[in-house]
Amino acid sequence: MRHVIVGASAAGLAAAEAVCAVDPSAEVTLLTEEPYPPYCRPLISYALAGEVPHTLYDLPLRCADRIQVRTSTRVLRVDPEEKAVFLKKGESLSFDRLLLATGAVPRLLGMAGEDAANVFGFRARADAEAIDREIRGGARTALVLGGGLVGVKVAHALAARGLEVTLCIGSEAPLSQVVNPEAGRRVAEALEEEGVAVRTGYRPSALVGGEDGRITAVRFDPPGEILRCDLVVRGKGVRPRTELAELLGFGDRDGIPVDARLRTPLPGIWAAGDVARTFDVAWQAPRVNAIWPAAVEQGALAGRNMAGGHEAYPGSLAMNSVKVGRLHLVSAGITRPPEGPYEVREVWDPAAGYRRVVLRDGVLVGAVVIGTDGRPGPDRTGLLIAAIRRGDRIADLPFDPLVDRISWSGFAFGRKTGGHEPGGYQPPRPAGG
Ligand SMILES: Cc1cc2nc3c(=O)[nH]c(=O)nc-3n(C[C@H](O)[C@H](O)[C@H](O)COP(=O)(O)OP(=O)(O)OC[C@H]3O[C@@H](n4cnc5c(N)ncnc54)[C@H](O)[C@@H]3O)c2cc1C
Repeated sequence: MRHVIVGASAAGLAAAEAVCAVDPSAEVTLLTEEPYPPYCRPLISYALAGEVPHTLYDLPLRCADRIQVRTSTRVLRVDPEEKAVFLKKGESLSFDRLLLATGAVPRLLGMAGEDAANVFGFRARADAEAIDREIRGGARTALVLGGGLVGVKVAHALAARGLEVTLCIGSEAPLSQVVNPEAGRRVAEALEEEGVAVRTGYRPSALVGGEDGRITAVRFDPPGEILRCDLVVRGKGVRPRTELAELLGFGDRDGIPVDARLRTPLPGIWAAGDVARTFDVAWQAPRVNAIWPAAVEQGALAGRNMAGGHEAYPGSLAMNSVKVGRLHLVSAGITRPPEGPYEVREVWDPAAGYRRVVLRDGVLVGAVVIGTDGRPGPDRTGLLIAAIRRGDRIADLPFDPLVDRISWSGFAFGRKTGGHEPGGYQPPRPAGG
């Protein structure tokens, strides 16, 4: 059986290894247009910052002797009747089973000058390396456009490299998709402590070019101001990379639709990872969850099914973790609920940090935890995430998620305890305290 996998990252690699584990006679070809063998994408900002060694980048490939990895190989189209993929290099490869694990790409600003040599997305190792070359070439000031998780991470990295960095955000605080403005402002303060200037209410309206075709400044309206720069990084989020699927007649800006076994509408073709619209346990609806662990889970399950299995995907949960100076933020599930049967409870405590839980008809569907001591309190956060994944009712929890201390044993045996500190169960702290 010939398995062709487009995309050699979290989902593609997990799928290739799963196929090999189930079917020792399978032929597996893993294709990526990137010039690198599989690497750990979430590390690119830390590598740019100089905080992780390059050896951490590379992902080990199990059963490497049975997986053919082809780098710098772009797939242009798929012919589902002929069962072949057509490569930019002019070649075609036939398959019995195909996985689309094409991931996502940064959203564009939609402005003239975006293709200038000193304007970057921040998605790939090549982006981090190109920015590194700019810094080594003398770039001193950077504008990061967009205050989502990637924007915050890249701003941190550039500041760590000694650049004068301004994070320009259209909304009133960073991470506005994840936390409320009050908590977002704490994140902004932590960024400022790290040397990142944060400008809120700044919407880019034009990239201003110099004579050499490079961008020298960005105009913002509002507030009607021009900021000079040596380089620009777009941090406007990502969109699923669906172009191959769209040529096949399915897939759109919300990803590739798949069934419970991660099959696309066409027989013999699966999809997984940041490109796939799979079941989301918090929303109880199909949704792309663009995170590494979900891509690995989905890739592995798709691989087992491609090799003959019939497994159903239990669903994914959005999760994010980011460290900004002394703050460590972890979020899971629905953090900014729409109008409807939702209730938000939150506590900000200067010592213990911030907690927000989102309930739908009394069921936990989302949470945000910000630890202020540089640690997220992984035990507590892990408990909360497990409860959201299971869809626990808040009234049935053996702990109060807005309370600081929760012990593993109390959770495991279904009773409230004093956790790590003597003195018994502590009541919730007052909001805003
Ligand atoms: C800076 C940054 C930080 C992140 N931090 C975290 C984090 O802390 N935690 C977390 O869970 N997630 C994080 N993520 C997200 C995580 O990296 C993604 O969820 C994960 O990489 C998705 O894996 P994937 O295999 O679905 O797709 P991708 O990693 O996007 O890989 C898709 C692959 O497909 C290839 N491809 C696409 N189209 C074609 C084609 N036509 N022909 C050939 N090859 C093609 C691409 O070259 C690419 O190699 C971060 C992402 C970034 C950019």
